[in-house]
Amino acid sequence: MQPLPELTPENTAFWTGGERGELMIAICNACAKAIHPPQLLCPACLSRDVAARAMPGTGTVYSFTVNHQPWTPDMQVPFALAVVDVDGADGVRVTAPVDCPDPESLCIGQRMAIGFTPAGDVWLPLWRPLAEGSAR
Ligand SMILES: [Zn+2]
Repeated sequence: MQPLPELTPENTAFWTGGERGELMIAICNACAKAIHPPQLLCPACLSRDVAARAMPGTGTVYSFTVNHQPWTPDMQVPFALAVVDVDGADGVRVTAPVDCPDPESLCIGQRMAIGFTPAGDVWLPLWRPLAEGSAR
């Protein structure tokens, strides 16, 4: 069982957007910078006019690792963790487990779609490979 994130004013939109199936990323309304991990203050222009917006929910694999070590008795291996460049949020990468039967088949540049797993008060993001041909 992994530790769950603690909800704060800045991160609640990100961790609860999954209830609606939405990948929520903080965007500065003053300079349009995408901010992740979410903050209430824009690190680029120091504006406090920052609000979470729903992204398209897709992205491209920037990097990934495949874990073969069962760190806890109930952990199923192998599984992959992917770092994904999020569509609609320039410069934002979201790291999450990959839900796929064959983690070894992943590749950099692969198109992914977001999904969520409910866990307590939060919805944990996970990535699912998009089938060939459905990539934009
Ligand atoms: Zn800004």
